[in-house]
Amino acid sequence: MNVPDHVQALLAALRDAGFEAYPVGGCVRDSLMGRTPSDWDLCTAATPAQTEAALAGYRLIETGVKHGTVTVLTERGPVEITTFRTDGEYFDHRRPERVTFVPDLREDLARRDFTVNAMALDPSGSVVDPFGGRTDLAAGIIRCVGEPDRRFGEDALRILRALRFAAKLDFSIDPATGDSAVKNRALLDDIARERVFAELTGLLTGPGAGRVLREYAPIIFQMIPELAAQAGFDQKNPNHIHDIWTHTTMAVDAAPPEPVLRLTMLLHDVGKPACFFTDEAGVGHFYGHGERGAEMADGILRRLRCDNATRERVCLMIRNHDIEPPQTPRAARRLLARLGEDGARQLIACWRADNADRGEAVRVRNLALIDDWEKLLAEALAGPAPCFSVKSLAVKGQDIMALGIPEGPEVGRVLAALFDAVTDGEVPNEREALLHKALVISREKD
Ligand code: ATP
Ligand code: MG
Repeated sequence: MNVPDHVQALLAALRDAGFEAYPVGGCVRDSLMGRTPSDWDLCTAATPAQTEAALAGYRLIETGVKHGTVTVLTERGPVEITTFRTDGEYFDHRRPERVTFVPDLREDLARRDFTVNAMALDPSGSVVDPFGGRTDLAAGIIRCVGEPDRRFGEDALRILRALRFAAKLDFSIDPATGDSAVKNRALLDDIARERVFAELTGLLTGPGAGRVLREYAPIIFQMIPELAAQAGFDQKNPNHIHDIWTHTTMAVDAAPPEPVLRLTMLLHDVGKPACFFTDEAGVGHFYGHGERGAEMADGILRRLRCDNATRERVCLMIRNHDIEPPQTPRAARRLLARLGEDGARQLIACWRADNADRGEAVRVRNLALIDDWEKLLAEALAGPAPCFSVKSLAVKGQDIMALGIPEGPEVGRVLAALFDAVTDGEVPNEREALLHKALVISREKD
């Protein structure tokens, strides 16, 4: 296995000072899978103070001395070094208040969450694997180290970590572990929302996301009860061949694996059950579910402590996800103005994902509309000085007032009319042309 030089150097320094030290956890798992680890975590018999002494000359941060962790800032990124420990008492199904340092690697591996995460690399390069991690890795299985009920009871975040790893590695969850995760799902209510959100985002961006969402729906509904009404919901509409929840999970898989897009697809139809009605012919409709869904998603994402930029973008996507795609240059420019270039591209990706599980005929028709839209978008972007909001007009309120228009609502009206004129391609977004147009607009009113 290829341990990079900067990590080898740290291991050597600790071992030279007389302490056992091993790469452990995710980096061992990823290396065994032939993947490049995103980061290297080490564990050691040295206490944090001993680690600091052994690594004098390095830049260190005491990230979690109470939990035994020191972070070393190397030129090739941070490396976390954690003293062998067992976790002390757990309170409220969250992280332990105190940890106990132990002399032995095996005990440290025993406190880790899953067998595939409970392996270390010894100096000879062989894998220390007391819980069958390699076998589970080869079979693609997430399994708790020890008794699942006890492990989820200690730290309920592990319930979501199991789902996240299953999605990210595209693994299945061992039945005993999976059943226990579902059974203990109410314990998730005690976990800090930001930690829940981080795991949920990790789950959604994994290649196995849709499957995990379907298999462990009760756990997802525990975090987001607003989605529960989708399960088994018959849409009574020939355009939809699946119940809403199944459609949602398939739309997640069909979107590029970026947090905004995957969160959008998870929540895009959250407003549907509340907007459902059937017409005289018995066909189901969901008018207004984009707007309703955006409002609900806003509440859900605030509750989950999602960052503002992501939340606002996701809600913008959901609000617009069921509009008619623009079919004229003018409509394309207006949409571009409303969403911005990134937003327009993201909405196109959402549209494609939303159509992935439709019946053949509907899908082909809708995908053709989206292709046309993409062409119109490219043309709109290639056009002169795209203008995305009143703020990006080449004139300001001051300029309008300088024309003799009094300060007040009339200035806003003129600016809004100018913006529409630019968006519609009637005037270029240039100062002289806009001032001229402003006069025309203000006279039109009189
Ligand atoms: P990733 O590549 O996603 O970072 P990772 O395995 O490194 O995966 P981390 O969350 O960085 O995951 O955790 C590092 C290691 O610490 C894990 O491999 C596992 O051994 C242990 N661990 C982390 N969180 C827990 C937990 N809640 N309970 C038990 N062990 C944990
Ligand atoms: Mg890690």
